[in-house]
Amino acid sequence: MSFAEVAVSVPLYPNKRFFDYKIPESLLGKVTPGQLIVVPFGRRKTWGVVWRLKDKTDFEGDASKIKELDSFVFEKTVFSKAQLEFAEWMCERYFYPIGEVCEAMLPAAIRKASQKLLNATPKVKEKLSHTLRVLNEEQERVMAEVASSPLAEHLIWGVTGSGKTEVYLHLIQKMIQEDKTSIVLVPEIALTPQLFSRFENAFPGEVAVFHSAQTEKEQRTSWLDIFYGRKKIALGPRSALFAPVSSLGLIVMDEEHEGSYKQEERLRYHARVAAQKLAELSGAKLILGSATPSAETLFRALSQKTGLSKLSARAVKTATRPTVEVVDLKKKLAQKTFQPSPYKEDAGESFPLEPESLFFSEELVYELGQVLERKEQAILFLNRRGLGRARVCKKCGYQPSCLQCAVTLIPHKNKMLCHYCGFETFVPEKCEKCSGEMKEVGFGTQALEEMLQKFFPKIRSLRLDRDVVQDRKKLVETLKSFSDREADVLIGTQMVAKGHDFPQVSLVGVILADIGFSMPDFRNEEKAFQLLTQVAGRAGRAEIPGKVVIQSFRPEEKIFQLLKEGEDLGVYEQFLSEVIETRKYLNYPPFSSLAMIQFQGLDAAEVEAAAVMVNKALDKVKAENFWVLGAVPSPIVKVRNKYRYQILLKSESFEVLKKSLTWVQDKWVGAGLEKKFQNTRLIIDVDPVGMM
Ligand code: ADP
Ligand code: ZN
Ligand code: ZN
Repeated sequence: MSFAEVAVSVPLYPNKRFFDYKIPESLLGKVTPGQLIVVPFGRRKTWGVVWRLKDKTDFEGDASKIKELDSFVFEKTVFSKAQLEFAEWMCERYFYPIGEVCEAMLPAAIRKASQKLLNATPKVKEKLSHTLRVLNEEQERVMAEVASSPLAEHLIWGVTGSGKTEVYLHLIQKMIQEDKTSIVLVPEIALTPQLFSRFENAFPGEVAVFHSAQTEKEQRTSWLDIFYGRKKIALGPRSALFAPVSSLGLIVMDEEHEGSYKQEERLRYHARVAAQKLAELSGAKLILGSATPSAETLFRALSQKTGLSKLSARAVKTATRPTVEVVDLKKKLAQKTFQPSPYKEDAGESFPLEPESLFFSEELVYELGQVLERKEQAILFLNRRGLGRARVCKKCGYQPSCLQCAVTLIPHKNKMLCHYCGFETFVPEKCEKCSGEMKEVGFGTQALEEMLQKFFPKIRSLRLDRDVVQDRKKLVETLKSFSDREADVLIGTQMVAKGHDFPQVSLVGVILADIGFSMPDFRNEEKAFQLLTQVAGRAGRAEIPGKVVIQSFRPEEKIFQLLKEGEDLGVYEQFLSEVIETRKYLNYPPFSSLAMIQFQGLDAAEVEAAAVMVNKALDKVKAENFWVLGAVPSPIVKVRNKYRYQILLKSESFEVLKKSLTWVQDKWVGAGLEKKFQNTRLIIDVDPVGMM
């Protein structure tokens, strides 16, 4: 074998393009697929991954022009056969250059390390023996069901605190006994420390953590520990999927319904979809765990493509359930018993917001007062995933939505717009259901905090807003500070809902819990239920009985009634089957595959022109059960000064979707549209989750 095909770490088109290199004398017999190697590329040197070896090159042209491989970054095989296949699959599914897929799969600390560092074998800490808790009967049943299932994938569907994590630990223990490695995926970095200690206590010296906020040294240590098999558990958010495991036996994905399993930049992969593939390629078992599974996963489980085990009771019986109270905001609006806010928040575009931007119902104020008196703690949750503004009926709480797409219409200066299909209508003054007056409402965490201080001047509050969440150190500090009871109230968006265990929290207030509030997303209902279940779960975790106050314009909405019934698998299943029915009717996942084509650039007119042109071109793609929606401005029209337009593609067959995306990429890069729209970037997002 005198030639090697290499995936070179440069952004190239077509995505799956390898380069031939000659194997030099000095490396003959030493080169194998999966190695990291330095190669000349253009006038510089870069690194690549050896993919295949061959006798002859397919290079058409002067064969003497073929360059030689330079030297090893790491002589040991870094990518196993399964990982090479996995990388190719990622490249094809997510329309991303193969060399850059490899880059995403390897921490910088490895690519840049010296051979000496990589070959180092530090002393392994003595592995202390450990014993796990004895499983209860229900958990034992789940273990048996997992073991006897012929399917590669298994959903453990259990209410919060039902002992799912304990089951994961026992499954991992079996893997360790068989000398196999496990990957444990968790949704958020902030949750890793808590979970890490639980896993580390169970398996001392076996857990390697992977996440992007690690120092290079930490990254390298974790990676090498798994690579050399010194540790058998790789734990972290979605990128832990790329841990260099050699004999993978198990992938556990905790809170599988979480949106953060989707990467929203560069290689835009969905970790759940990718985990399914990796498990298949490595012959490993995939365990998905959740109290509120995604519609996709539950549908697979109910149609027997995924194994299913349920845990319907809490493992520790003494923990009490919080009581749920739903407050009718439109009544408050009519009675004017709420406190109007003097604050206005600009939601991106300049937009007038009504003074009743914020709400503290008397019920919530009363409960907060009680909490302060009892010296306990509260969490105030603001469901603001999107734009923070909506047009609602003051009388009945109605919000207009697109009939075709079942998503909320978003108010703009002089129109209401569907951000999926582009449907436009006038801004209604009167409600089409009850003729009540329509109003613009909006809100933000900062204004909420200021309001809170007006009611309780002495209250100590902490805020988990975007700045804090994006800064890991600040985030950990804030959570610790709240946990140390240095504040009475924690205010925040999604982040406050996630898994934290604050035993002194006895009240959770949901400021505005309307489904789909200003969020054009077909997953709204599902996400709202999952989120509210999770938020409610923060109240009353220990001996103190908890209370949840949910404020809404539409308290009669079914999900609130269901939430009042408490956490119950049957209730959730009934709710989700209706969601699934709607999805079927409108051809959304799990009944179709989706892809989003997004256009971004500083010049609004150019971005729009590019989107419109690609959209027109897509008319030529004729396939059955294939839908092109758009082109429309993205719900969040401008991010960091860049304008955004999008086209949504929907098909019952992923192959059709793939063909049309390939065709679009060919037009864009190959046929020169890219040059015509020089200041516009085209981004392909397969399996989109954010939709914004
Ligand atoms: P989940 O992951 O479903 O939220 P956990 O595994 O965290 O549930 O369990 C909830 C609580 O119950 C934890 O405090 C855990 O230590 C305890 N627990 C779970 N299983 C058992 C068991 N078999 N025996 C005793 N305590 C258990
Ligand atoms: Zn109305
Ligand atoms: Zn629409």
